[in-house]
Amino acid sequence: MPALAPAAVRIDEQDIRLLPKAEVHVHLEGTFALVDLLRLAKENGVALPGPAATIFDVSTHDAFVRPEITTGGTAHGVGGAGLSGFLRFLDWQCGLVRTPEQAARIAYAFAARQTASGIRYSDVIVNPTHWNAWHGREIELMQALAAGLDEAEQDGLCVTNIAYSLLRTQTAIEAEQAVAALVGHRPSRVVALSIDGDEKASGPTGEKFRTAFRAAEAAGLHRTVHAGESSGPAGVWDALDHLHAERIDHGVRSIEDPVLVQRLVDEGIPLDVCPRSNITLGLYPDWASHPLPLLVEAGVRVTLNTDDPAPLACTLDEDWAVAAGAFGYGRPELVRFAAESIRASFADDDLKRDLLAELSDLEVAT
Ligand SMILES: [Zn+2]
Repeated sequence: MPALAPAAVRIDEQDIRLLPKAEVHVHLEGTFALVDLLRLAKENGVALPGPAATIFDVSTHDAFVRPEITTGGTAHGVGGAGLSGFLRFLDWQCGLVRTPEQAARIAYAFAARQTASGIRYSDVIVNPTHWNAWHGREIELMQALAAGLDEAEQDGLCVTNIAYSLLRTQTAIEAEQAVAALVGHRPSRVVALSIDGDEKASGPTGEKFRTAFRAAEAAGLHRTVHAGESSGPAGVWDALDHLHAERIDHGVRSIEDPVLVQRLVDEGIPLDVCPRSNITLGLYPDWASHPLPLLVEAGVRVTLNTDDPAPLACTLDEDWAVAAGAFGYGRPELVRFAAESIRASFADDDLKRDLLAELSDLEVAT
Protein backbone atom coordinates (compact mmCIF):
# COMPACT_ATOMS: atom_id res chain seq x y z
CA MET A 1 0.00 0.00 0.00
CA PRO A 2 1.39 3.48 -0.83
CA ALA A 3 2.10 5.79 2.07
CA LEU A 4 -0.81 8.05 2.85
CA ALA A 5 -0.19 11.68 3.64
CA PRO A 6 -2.23 12.97 6.56
CA ALA A 7 -4.77 15.64 5.68
CA ALA A 8 -3.11 19.04 5.74
CA VAL A 9 -6.26 20.60 7.13
CA ARG A 10 -8.77 18.65 9.15
CA ILE A 11 -12.10 18.55 7.36
CA ASP A 12 -14.76 20.13 9.51
CA GLU A 13 -17.80 17.90 9.98
CA GLN A 14 -20.09 20.87 9.51
CA ASP A 15 -18.64 21.35 6.01
CA ILE A 16 -19.27 17.67 5.33
CA ARG A 17 -22.88 17.95 6.48
CA LEU A 18 -23.42 20.81 4.05
CA LEU A 19 -22.43 18.68 1.03
CA PRO A 20 -25.54 17.30 -0.72
CA LYS A 21 -25.03 13.56 -0.64
CA ALA A 22 -26.72 10.15 -0.61
CA GLU A 23 -26.23 7.08 1.55
CA VAL A 24 -26.85 3.80 -0.23
CA HIS A 25 -25.65 1.10 2.17
CA VAL A 26 -27.46 1.48 5.48
CA HIS A 27 -29.73 -1.07 7.16
CA LEU A 28 -32.88 0.23 8.82
CA GLU A 29 -32.33 -2.50 11.41
CA GLY A 30 -29.02 -0.82 12.30
CA THR A 31 -30.41 2.67 12.91
CA PHE A 32 -32.71 2.35 15.93
CA ALA A 33 -31.70 4.99 18.47
CA LEU A 34 -31.76 4.32 22.20
CA VAL A 35 -34.77 6.57 22.61
CA ASP A 36 -36.64 4.56 19.95
CA LEU A 37 -35.87 1.30 21.76
CA LEU A 38 -36.92 2.66 25.15
CA ARG A 39 -40.24 3.88 23.81
CA LEU A 40 -40.98 0.67 21.91
CA ALA A 41 -40.08 -1.49 24.91
CA LYS A 42 -42.34 0.59 27.16
CA GLU A 43 -45.24 0.49 24.68
CA ASN A 44 -44.98 -3.28 24.43
CA GLY A 45 -44.37 -3.90 28.13
CA VAL A 46 -41.06 -5.58 27.35
CA ALA A 47 -38.06 -5.35 29.69
CA LEU A 48 -34.75 -4.17 28.32
CA PRO A 49 -32.19 -6.99 28.09
CA GLY A 50 -29.70 -5.00 30.19
CA PRO A 51 -28.73 -1.50 31.24
CA ALA A 52 -29.81 1.15 28.74
CA ALA A 53 -26.31 2.62 28.70
CA THR A 54 -24.90 -0.60 27.20
CA ILE A 55 -27.89 -1.66 25.11
CA PHE A 56 -25.88 -1.73 21.86
CA ASP A 57 -22.98 -3.63 23.43
CA VAL A 58 -24.62 -6.99 22.90
CA SER A 59 -21.66 -8.86 24.37
CA THR A 60 -22.79 -7.69 27.81
CA HIS A 61 -26.32 -9.12 27.61
CA ASP A 62 -26.89 -12.80 28.34
CA ALA A 63 -30.03 -12.90 26.24
CA PHE A 64 -27.96 -12.24 23.12
CA VAL A 65 -24.70 -13.93 24.02
CA ARG A 66 -25.91 -17.30 25.24
CA PRO A 67 -27.10 -19.36 22.27
CA GLU A 68 -29.56 -21.40 24.36
CA ILE A 69 -31.64 -18.24 24.72
CA THR A 70 -31.65 -17.69 20.96
CA THR A 71 -35.01 -16.87 19.48
CA GLY A 72 -34.00 -17.53 15.92
CA GLY A 73 -30.79 -15.70 15.09
CA THR A 74 -30.29 -14.68 11.51
CA ALA A 75 -27.26 -13.57 9.62
CA HIS A 76 -26.02 -10.25 8.36
CA GLY A 77 -22.56 -9.04 7.51
CA VAL A 78 -19.37 -10.95 8.15
CA GLY A 79 -18.78 -13.89 10.38
CA GLY A 80 -17.13 -13.32 13.73
CA ALA A 81 -17.28 -13.96 17.42
CA GLY A 82 -19.87 -11.25 18.11
CA LEU A 83 -21.99 -11.70 15.03
CA SER A 84 -24.54 -14.19 16.34
CA GLY A 85 -25.20 -12.05 19.40
CA PHE A 86 -25.57 -8.98 17.20
CA LEU A 87 -28.05 -10.78 14.99
CA ARG A 88 -30.12 -11.91 17.95
CA PHE A 89 -30.14 -8.29 19.09
CA LEU A 90 -31.48 -7.18 15.69
CA ASP A 91 -34.27 -9.75 15.95
CA TRP A 92 -35.12 -8.57 19.47
CA GLN A 93 -35.25 -4.88 18.63
CA CYS A 94 -37.14 -5.31 15.32
CA GLY A 95 -39.53 -7.62 17.16
CA LEU A 96 -40.59 -4.59 19.22
CA VAL A 97 -42.08 -2.98 16.11
CA ARG A 98 -45.58 -4.44 16.05
CA THR A 99 -48.01 -1.86 14.68
CA PRO A 100 -48.08 0.18 11.46
CA GLU A 101 -47.73 3.34 13.55
CA GLN A 102 -44.57 2.04 15.21
CA ALA A 103 -43.08 1.04 11.85
CA ALA A 104 -43.90 4.45 10.38
CA ARG A 105 -42.34 6.15 13.38
CA ILE A 106 -39.09 4.18 12.99
CA ALA A 107 -38.96 5.07 9.30
CA TYR A 108 -39.58 8.74 10.06
CA ALA A 109 -36.86 8.70 12.73
CA PHE A 110 -34.47 7.17 10.20
CA ALA A 111 -35.09 10.00 7.73
CA ALA A 112 -34.57 12.57 10.48
CA ARG A 113 -31.30 10.92 11.51
CA GLN A 114 -30.07 10.89 7.91
CA THR A 115 -31.00 14.55 7.50
CA ALA A 116 -28.95 15.47 10.55
CA SER A 117 -25.87 14.12 8.74
CA GLY A 118 -26.64 16.16 5.63
CA ILE A 119 -27.90 13.13 3.71
CA ARG A 120 -30.46 14.19 1.15
CA TYR A 121 -31.33 10.80 -0.29
CA SER A 122 -31.07 7.23 1.08
CA ASP A 123 -31.53 3.74 -0.27
CA VAL A 124 -32.32 2.00 3.01
CA ILE A 125 -32.00 -1.78 3.21
CA VAL A 126 -34.84 -3.55 5.03
CA ASN A 127 -34.66 -7.29 5.71
CA PRO A 128 -38.16 -8.43 6.77
CA THR A 129 -36.84 -11.69 8.25
CA HIS A 130 -35.70 -9.69 11.29
CA TRP A 131 -39.18 -8.16 11.85
CA ASN A 132 -40.83 -11.04 13.68
CA ALA A 133 -44.25 -9.44 14.07
CA TRP A 134 -44.58 -9.06 10.29
CA HIS A 135 -43.79 -12.54 9.02
CA GLY A 136 -46.37 -13.31 6.36
CA ARG A 137 -47.24 -9.60 6.23
CA GLU A 138 -44.06 -8.29 4.63
CA ILE A 139 -45.91 -6.11 2.12
CA GLU A 140 -47.85 -4.48 4.98
CA LEU A 141 -44.54 -3.74 6.68
CA MET A 142 -43.28 -2.06 3.50
CA GLN A 143 -46.47 0.00 3.31
CA ALA A 144 -46.17 1.09 6.94
CA LEU A 145 -42.53 2.09 6.49
CA ALA A 146 -43.42 3.97 3.30
CA ALA A 147 -46.05 5.95 5.21
CA GLY A 148 -43.37 7.16 7.62
CA LEU A 149 -41.01 7.97 4.76
CA ASP A 150 -43.79 9.87 2.97
CA GLU A 151 -44.42 11.99 6.04
CA ALA A 152 -40.68 12.63 6.41
CA GLU A 153 -40.39 13.79 2.82
CA GLN A 154 -43.42 16.06 3.25
CA ASP A 155 -41.68 17.57 6.26
CA GLY A 156 -38.59 18.34 4.17
CA LEU A 157 -36.45 15.48 5.50
CA CYS A 158 -34.21 13.08 3.58
CA VAL A 159 -35.90 11.33 0.64
CA THR A 160 -35.70 7.57 1.13
CA ASN A 161 -36.43 4.53 -0.97
CA ILE A 162 -36.30 0.92 0.19
CA ALA A 163 -34.11 -1.98 -0.93
CA TYR A 164 -36.06 -5.08 0.12
CA SER A 165 -33.50 -7.58 1.32
CA LEU A 166 -33.57 -11.33 1.16
CA LEU A 167 -31.61 -13.30 3.71
CA ARG A 168 -28.83 -15.45 2.31
CA THR A 169 -30.06 -18.51 4.22
CA GLN A 170 -33.59 -18.35 2.78
CA THR A 171 -34.57 -20.96 0.22
CA ALA A 172 -34.91 -20.28 -3.48
CA ILE A 173 -38.68 -20.77 -3.18
CA GLU A 174 -38.94 -18.27 -0.32
CA ALA A 175 -36.97 -15.75 -2.34
CA GLU A 176 -39.08 -16.24 -5.43
CA GLN A 177 -42.29 -15.90 -3.42
CA ALA A 178 -41.01 -12.67 -1.86
CA VAL A 179 -40.23 -11.22 -5.28
CA ALA A 180 -43.59 -12.35 -6.65
CA ALA A 181 -45.31 -10.47 -3.81
CA LEU A 182 -43.26 -7.36 -4.52
CA VAL A 183 -43.99 -7.52 -8.23
CA GLY A 184 -47.66 -8.18 -7.60
CA HIS A 185 -48.21 -5.41 -5.05
CA ARG A 186 -45.46 -2.95 -6.05
CA PRO A 187 -45.39 -1.35 -2.60
CA SER A 188 -44.57 2.33 -2.65
CA ARG A 189 -40.88 3.26 -2.26
CA VAL A 190 -39.54 -0.28 -2.76
CA VAL A 191 -37.17 0.26 -5.68
CA ALA A 192 -34.66 -2.56 -5.33
CA LEU A 193 -34.07 -6.16 -4.36
CA SER A 194 -31.13 -6.77 -2.03
CA ILE A 195 -29.54 -9.71 -0.32
CA ASP A 196 -27.56 -9.80 2.90
CA GLY A 197 -26.46 -12.44 5.37
CA ASP A 198 -23.35 -14.31 6.32
CA GLU A 199 -21.54 -15.08 3.05
CA LYS A 200 -18.94 -17.26 4.72
CA ALA A 201 -21.46 -19.49 6.47
CA SER A 202 -23.82 -19.87 3.52
CA GLY A 203 -21.28 -20.27 0.71
CA PRO A 204 -22.08 -19.17 -2.85
CA THR A 205 -25.78 -18.40 -3.27
CA GLY A 206 -25.88 -16.80 -6.70
CA GLU A 207 -27.39 -19.79 -8.46
CA LYS A 208 -29.95 -20.31 -5.67
CA PHE A 209 -31.32 -16.78 -6.00
CA ARG A 210 -30.82 -16.36 -9.75
CA THR A 211 -34.50 -16.86 -10.60
CA ALA A 212 -35.68 -14.41 -7.93
CA PHE A 213 -33.25 -11.73 -9.04
CA ARG A 214 -34.06 -12.21 -12.73
CA ALA A 215 -37.77 -11.80 -11.90
CA ALA A 216 -36.98 -8.59 -10.03
CA GLU A 217 -34.91 -7.33 -12.95
CA ALA A 218 -37.69 -8.13 -15.42
CA ALA A 219 -40.13 -6.15 -13.24
CA GLY A 220 -37.86 -3.10 -13.24
CA LEU A 221 -36.49 -3.43 -9.71
CA HIS A 222 -32.86 -2.50 -9.14
CA ARG A 223 -30.43 -5.07 -7.67
CA THR A 224 -27.83 -4.60 -4.93
CA VAL A 225 -25.98 -7.49 -3.33
CA HIS A 226 -23.82 -7.93 -0.22
CA ALA A 227 -20.65 -9.62 -1.45
CA GLY A 228 -16.88 -9.48 -1.33
CA GLU A 229 -16.82 -9.11 2.41
CA SER A 230 -16.27 -12.48 4.10
CA SER A 231 -16.69 -14.31 0.76
CA GLY A 232 -13.77 -12.64 -0.97
CA PRO A 233 -13.71 -11.85 -4.70
CA ALA A 234 -15.63 -15.03 -5.59
CA GLY A 235 -18.76 -13.60 -3.98
CA VAL A 236 -18.59 -10.53 -6.22
CA TRP A 237 -18.20 -12.62 -9.37
CA ASP A 238 -21.20 -14.66 -8.19
CA ALA A 239 -23.29 -11.52 -7.64
CA LEU A 240 -22.45 -10.05 -11.04
CA ASP A 241 -22.79 -13.23 -13.08
CA HIS A 242 -25.86 -14.78 -11.46
CA LEU A 243 -27.77 -11.89 -9.91
CA HIS A 244 -26.93 -9.07 -12.34
CA ALA A 245 -26.08 -6.85 -9.38
CA GLU A 246 -25.99 -3.15 -10.27
CA ARG A 247 -24.15 -2.30 -7.05
CA ILE A 248 -22.14 -4.38 -4.58
CA ASP A 249 -22.57 -3.74 -0.86
CA HIS A 250 -19.05 -3.88 0.64
CA GLY A 251 -17.16 -5.58 -2.22
CA VAL A 252 -13.88 -4.43 -0.68
CA ARG A 253 -12.13 -7.77 -1.11
CA SER A 254 -12.43 -7.29 -4.86
CA ILE A 255 -9.03 -5.66 -4.46
CA GLU A 256 -7.56 -9.17 -4.13
CA ASP A 257 -8.46 -9.97 -7.76
CA PRO A 258 -7.07 -7.60 -10.44
CA VAL A 259 -9.27 -9.10 -13.14
CA LEU A 260 -12.35 -8.42 -11.04
CA VAL A 261 -11.21 -4.86 -10.32
CA GLN A 262 -10.90 -4.27 -14.05
CA ARG A 263 -14.39 -5.66 -14.61
CA LEU A 264 -15.84 -3.34 -11.95
CA VAL A 265 -14.10 -0.41 -13.65
CA ASP A 266 -15.18 -1.43 -17.16
CA GLU A 267 -18.82 -2.00 -16.18
CA GLY A 268 -19.01 0.98 -13.82
CA ILE A 269 -20.27 -1.13 -10.91
CA PRO A 270 -20.18 0.92 -7.67
CA LEU A 271 -18.97 -0.63 -4.41
CA ASP A 272 -20.94 0.55 -1.36
CA VAL A 273 -18.07 0.61 1.11
CA CYS A 274 -18.40 0.86 4.92
CA PRO A 275 -14.89 1.04 6.41
CA ARG A 276 -15.94 1.37 10.06
CA SER A 277 -18.15 -1.70 9.80
CA ASN A 278 -15.30 -3.70 8.21
CA ILE A 279 -12.88 -2.64 10.93
CA THR A 280 -15.28 -3.18 13.84
CA LEU A 281 -16.17 -6.65 12.57
CA GLY A 282 -12.52 -7.55 12.11
CA LEU A 283 -12.19 -7.68 8.32
CA TYR A 284 -9.30 -5.19 8.54
CA PRO A 285 -7.38 -4.24 11.68
CA ASP A 286 -7.59 -0.46 11.26
CA TRP A 287 -8.43 2.39 8.87
CA ALA A 288 -4.87 2.53 7.52
CA SER A 289 -5.18 -1.10 6.37
CA HIS A 290 -8.50 -0.60 4.60
CA PRO A 291 -8.38 -0.90 0.79
CA LEU A 292 -10.70 2.07 0.12
CA PRO A 293 -7.92 4.27 -1.33
CA LEU A 294 -6.60 1.41 -3.48
CA LEU A 295 -10.04 0.87 -4.96
CA VAL A 296 -10.39 4.59 -5.69
CA GLU A 297 -6.92 4.74 -7.27
CA ALA A 298 -7.81 1.75 -9.45
CA GLY A 299 -10.74 3.70 -10.85
CA VAL A 300 -13.53 1.73 -9.17
CA ARG A 301 -16.68 3.72 -8.40
CA VAL A 302 -16.91 3.85 -4.61
CA THR A 303 -19.52 5.19 -2.21
CA LEU A 304 -18.77 5.71 1.48
CA ASN A 305 -21.44 4.51 3.94
CA THR A 306 -22.12 3.47 7.56
CA ASP A 307 -23.89 0.05 7.29
CA ASP A 308 -25.30 -0.10 10.88
CA PRO A 309 -24.68 3.31 12.46
CA ALA A 310 -26.50 2.81 15.79
CA PRO A 311 -24.64 -0.27 17.04
CA LEU A 312 -21.44 1.00 15.42
CA ALA A 313 -21.94 4.32 17.23
CA CYS A 314 -21.14 6.46 14.21
CA THR A 315 -22.70 8.90 11.77
CA LEU A 316 -21.90 9.35 8.11
CA ASP A 317 -20.48 12.84 8.56
CA GLU A 318 -18.17 11.60 11.32
CA ASP A 319 -17.01 8.67 9.20
CA TRP A 320 -16.29 10.90 6.20
CA ALA A 321 -14.17 13.07 8.51
CA VAL A 322 -12.32 10.01 9.80
CA ALA A 323 -11.75 8.78 6.22
CA ALA A 324 -10.39 12.19 5.28
CA GLY A 325 -7.94 12.07 8.17
CA ALA A 326 -6.93 8.44 7.63
CA PHE A 327 -6.47 8.65 3.87
CA GLY A 328 -5.40 12.27 3.43
CA TYR A 329 -8.54 13.31 1.59
CA GLY A 330 -9.35 16.98 1.24
CA ARG A 331 -12.51 18.71 0.17
CA PRO A 332 -12.14 17.82 -3.55
CA GLU A 333 -12.09 14.10 -2.75
CA LEU A 334 -15.10 14.39 -0.43
CA VAL A 335 -17.01 16.32 -3.10
CA ARG A 336 -16.27 13.44 -5.49
CA PHE A 337 -17.60 10.94 -2.92
CA ALA A 338 -20.74 13.07 -2.58
CA ALA A 339 -21.25 13.18 -6.34
CA GLU A 340 -20.65 9.45 -6.68
CA SER A 341 -23.11 8.69 -3.89
CA ILE A 342 -25.81 10.58 -5.76
CA ARG A 343 -24.99 9.03 -9.14
CA ALA A 344 -24.83 5.49 -7.71
CA SER A 345 -28.11 5.81 -5.82
CA PHE A 346 -31.48 4.54 -6.97
CA ALA A 347 -33.02 8.03 -6.66
CA ASP A 348 -35.11 9.12 -9.60
CA ASP A 349 -33.34 11.05 -12.34
CA ASP A 350 -34.88 14.42 -11.44
CA LEU A 351 -33.69 14.26 -7.85
CA LYS A 352 -30.21 13.11 -8.93
CA ARG A 353 -29.98 16.03 -11.35
CA ASP A 354 -31.12 18.53 -8.70
CA LEU A 355 -28.71 17.26 -6.05
CA LEU A 356 -25.77 17.18 -8.46
CA ALA A 357 -26.60 20.73 -9.59
CA GLU A 358 -26.77 21.86 -5.95
CA LEU A 359 -23.39 20.24 -5.27
CA SER A 360 -21.90 21.90 -8.33
CA ASP A 361 -23.28 25.33 -7.36
CA LEU A 362 -21.85 24.90 -3.87
CA GLU A 363 -18.40 24.26 -5.34
CA VAL A 364 -18.60 27.30 -7.60
CA ALA A 365 -19.54 29.43 -4.62
CA THR A 366 -16.63 28.23 -2.44
ZN1 LIG B 1 -24.63 -4.17 5.10
